[in-house]
Amino acid sequence: MTAAVPSAQFRIVHTVCSHDCPDSCGVLVTVDGSGRAIKVAGDPAHPITQGFLCGKVAKYLHRVYAPDRILYPLKRKAGVAKGPLARGREREAFERIGWDEALDAIAARLQETADRYGSESILPYSYGGTISVLGYGSMDRRFFHRLGASQLDRTICAEAGAQAWNLVYGKKLGTPTEDYRLAKLILAWGANIHGNNVHLWPMVEKARRNGARLIVIDPYRTRTAAVADWHIPIRPGTDAALALGLMHVILNEGLEDRAYIAEMTHGIEELSARAREYTPQRVAACTGLTAGEIESLAREYATTRPAALRMNYGVQRSENGGTAARAIAMLPALTGAWKHRGGGGQLSTSGAFAWDKQAVERPDLALASPLGRLARVVNMSLLGQCLAEQGSGVRDQGSGPAVHALFVYNSNPAAVAPNQNAVRRGLLRPDLFTVVHELFFTDTTDYADYILPATTFLEHTDVQGAYGHYFVQLSQQAIEPPGEARSNVWLFGQLAQRMGFKEACFRDTHEEIVKQALAIGPDGHSSNPGMEHITFEDLKLQGHIPLGFHREPETQPFQPFTAGPLPTPSGKVEFYSEALASAGLDPLPAFVPNTESRLGKDAERFPLEFLGRKADNYMNSTFANLDGHRKMEARTSQRLEMHPLDAKARGIADGDPVRIWNDRGSLTLTALIKEGSGGSVPTGVVAASMDWAKLQPDGANVNALTSERLTDIGAGATFYSVLVEVAKLPA
Ligand code: SF4
Repeated sequence: MTAAVPSAQFRIVHTVCSHDCPDSCGVLVTVDGSGRAIKVAGDPAHPITQGFLCGKVAKYLHRVYAPDRILYPLKRKAGVAKGPLARGREREAFERIGWDEALDAIAARLQETADRYGSESILPYSYGGTISVLGYGSMDRRFFHRLGASQLDRTICAEAGAQAWNLVYGKKLGTPTEDYRLAKLILAWGANIHGNNVHLWPMVEKARRNGARLIVIDPYRTRTAAVADWHIPIRPGTDAALALGLMHVILNEGLEDRAYIAEMTHGIEELSARAREYTPQRVAACTGLTAGEIESLAREYATTRPAALRMNYGVQRSENGGTAARAIAMLPALTGAWKHRGGGGQLSTSGAFAWDKQAVERPDLALASPLGRLARVVNMSLLGQCLAEQGSGVRDQGSGPAVHALFVYNSNPAAVAPNQNAVRRGLLRPDLFTVVHELFFTDTTDYADYILPATTFLEHTDVQGAYGHYFVQLSQQAIEPPGEARSNVWLFGQLAQRMGFKEACFRDTHEEIVKQALAIGPDGHSSNPGMEHITFEDLKLQGHIPLGFHREPETQPFQPFTAGPLPTPSGKVEFYSEALASAGLDPLPAFVPNTESRLGKDAERFPLEFLGRKADNYMNSTFANLDGHRKMEARTSQRLEMHPLDAKARGIADGDPVRIWNDRGSLTLTALIKEGSGGSVPTGVVAASMDWAKLQPDGANVNALTSERLTDIGAGATFYSVLVEVAKLPA
């Protein structure tokens, strides 16, 4: 059942979970005769969703109908200072206003800001609070292009890995999720499949029932690592060294696939020379593994067929992370794993979805802005720097004015952006005008001048691809938005009209933009590559439709990177990158220790490597306000996980209050120490999970410790290159 099914009393509507997750589940919403959603369930007809939802979304109606949801536009009361507000008392700082008043006031202030400081002093800030096509970036992009606001470089999560993968393969494609069931070895590298890619897990289980082994490389003992056949607790930020060490062994022992390499790759001689430098002994010294483990892993990976790699984005969130992801991505090409169905690898499948972004985002509208050109680009991973001090300009972002207006949607930067204290100092600037479009009071709404009520994916129409499968899905509006909640599309269309933008595209409906994204032509079919068989009507009826190359998976399985030319400069898988060489960069992968690591210069003052990891039951900071989700996270919430040896050296016992700090900030947590093999971190590593800052004892979360240093490729955030020290606090 995928289409809307009317009955006398109930309707079942096909929607799509738009949270930032590779699985992009088909979600069937049952709506009663009064228009109220009474049930959400995974679509059993969807080949990946398979009828179940993760624990985060299974009780989604608690979120949709939460009593503390923001349902009306709010304006900060005169005289109430910005800054952290006690949970449950946020409303006292704001007064309810109507949409007309809110839109008029915001439009006027944006205009005034543009007139006074230049339009680039306005910065949109959004990310993956919703990843559907319209919700992620459509009317908002049109609006900000037309306004001449700064463009946002959305680097915070995945840019290093995305660029790294594309340097090797030219396109983000991977082994179909369904085919992991055929693997004989699954190598989960920084991938907590069981925790946050749960619809891959049934495939892993099927493969294991057929004799496959699951190997997990992760410094943290995740749920997935705990049930793996082999957990390899690598030191944070040393993944590039391990990948090069594996290459060394594979090439040294002649385990590479010479035929695949000859036909499909570029630069094997150069890569071989580089890999020779990474002996198992050298790699063991930096990764914390033994030379024997490195050799065993290389042999098992190279000689088991099919061998499927699942890399996830944690790997690339360190200074050397782009190179690490690039080196890991090369492994299936070195062993020819792509040739064997069920083998290969996946970081993301999003490159398969060729939406008509020009039509959806309308960058051409920038020509009609006061700038008459595309605006400068500001890196979201440097928000703290961007907001620093009135009139200081936007450092490291090229020329242009300081940021004087911040428009936040699909994100909670006061909780999720690196270097939290710098971000908060910026948000406190009295001259900064801040608007937040949100579902709940968050760490960021505490700094807002206006808060606007947003919709959930049940409350608007949208279209969506995925970064973990190959199905296009239509998300149909299931219920009316509660209160006066409004979608991103509605909000920015209305605001555009208030600002006097006359272009007709600002009046497009959700359905019209969906059709534009699909590039529906006069014959009713999409003209996007890979979507030519899709019509809007079929999508409405069926809910999900596979991309063209994935329509006959059994008789014509999709095996990427097995035939050229590839969309890389050489047309081949690139072990050696001329593009990097001509940019003056190392064209080959190399291990460079993170500045903040046990091999870095600050390790004497701050000897512990810190992982500010994501909670399994939240989506970054999303869901952390819901009591049910908090209960599921109770074991590690507000705890600092330490190895017993590190704890003992500091006189810390399980349950002791501890202070964890570096030069950027500090946190108070409770030590969680597990003796024996059940420990979650190796020596020299401590971990705490992401949460809302305002729900923590001292009003800060893990990002009080993270830095604004950027990744080597893609200028992304380096959440996992962080050094700290820990001490016991008096009880
Ligand atoms: S968060 Fe992921 S697994 Fe959970 S329902 Fe959404 S798409 Fe599915």
